[in-house]
Amino acid sequence: MKVAFYTLGCKVNWYETEAIGKIFQSNGYEIVTEINSADVVVVNTCAVTAISSQKSRQAIRRAIRANPNAVVCVLGCYAQNSPAEISAIDGVDVIVGTAERMKIVELVEQVLKNRDEKILRVDDVEKISAFEELPHTPQRTRAFLKIEDGCNNFCAYCIIPYLRGRVRSRSLENIRAECLELAAGGYREIVLTGIHIGAYGADFKNKISLVDAVKTVLDAANPLRLRLGSIESAEMSDELIDLIKSDERICNHVHLPLQSGSDEILKSMRRPYTTKNFAALTSKLVKEIPDISIGTDLIVGFPNETEKNFAETLDFVQAQPFSKIHVFPFSAREGTLAATMQNQIPAQVKRERAARALEISAAKEKIFAEKLIGKTVEIIAETQEENFIDGLTKNYVRVYVPASSEINSGDVVKVHVEKIFRNGVLATSYKLQATS
Ligand code: SF4
Repeated sequence: MKVAFYTLGCKVNWYETEAIGKIFQSNGYEIVTEINSADVVVVNTCAVTAISSQKSRQAIRRAIRANPNAVVCVLGCYAQNSPAEISAIDGVDVIVGTAERMKIVELVEQVLKNRDEKILRVDDVEKISAFEELPHTPQRTRAFLKIEDGCNNFCAYCIIPYLRGRVRSRSLENIRAECLELAAGGYREIVLTGIHIGAYGADFKNKISLVDAVKTVLDAANPLRLRLGSIESAEMSDELIDLIKSDERICNHVHLPLQSGSDEILKSMRRPYTTKNFAALTSKLVKEIPDISIGTDLIVGFPNETEKNFAETLDFVQAQPFSKIHVFPFSAREGTLAATMQNQIPAQVKRERAARALEISAAKEKIFAEKLIGKTVEIIAETQEENFIDGLTKNYVRVYVPASSEINSGDVVKVHVEKIFRNGVLATSYKLQATS
């Protein structure tokens, strides 16, 4: 039997797709990339914005059209949020939310025995208190390692806590066990992922934090690089900053979601910091960690955001040492506080504000990448295409090198950066590094 996957959304979803693939493989299934040659198609969905839900719906319909005879299984955040909507789509056979993924093969096989059956298995995530362990083998050079699920914050705009439940941290023992497998598999870069990794340990009785999880990974996997996923600024402890500074294996790249540069809007969003706290943290990071890249997320057009609030935001982000800003026009999610707020901002205004914020992001991205011109940097080679192979520096700049039979995916390569190119830089000379 053959199974194909279609994944939307964040790194957690990609990790979970890889894990679900492993569950199918251990039950004798072969993973294929062509949807039309599969017996089973799994669509792992996203619902973080209204557009994500729409794209998830389109992906489900496309999968059914491409292969009407396959068992179509829909899971993930959109399935958790809108099971009735999915159930109404003709051709969907199994619907699973953001829990109980371990049972997926069992459910698919139930349908294979009786093609008239439709299975809906979406549980109340509020009641789940344990991290769901899933078997996992990464597919790429860079391995995602999920250490946490869920969120307790309930930011006013965010649907995620309703779809993923409360914080559940993975035990240090199980993190260690997966890291030993990653070490044996020769993965050079590990990326810590989760819904809210800064809250790691909040559900444990003893005082275990993200720092303990990071130390466990460094000790058990000893990766060449360890990259941290998005961390809330309020949770970036001095201990964690010291660890990033002192351990060369931890990438000098952090993602700190800002969301707004107006204190009034931050308060209304229920974000637990002020612009003053945020700026104090970024100036500390820049001072302590050389060449650090700081990425961020920004929501524009939040309800009640005036031109004055937005101008404050633009001034603030302009002054911040960001290397990239991911800009999201506000998307009202039913069930959240922000969706019930008065003074929703018209779509056209949101689009205009997004364009203005993106201009700042593009300029900052270029300025950051230009700092590499003339320098020799290290990348881990990733994607091969006809003319180029690319990879990321530790501080998250994409580097393109002319394709060569000497460079393979996963190689550690020293490159000399020549100029700005595509979404990163071009390097024209390189030296292969010997690594153990
Ligand atoms: S911290 Fe806020 S934005 Fe992030 S997942 Fe939790 S509720 Fe959503």
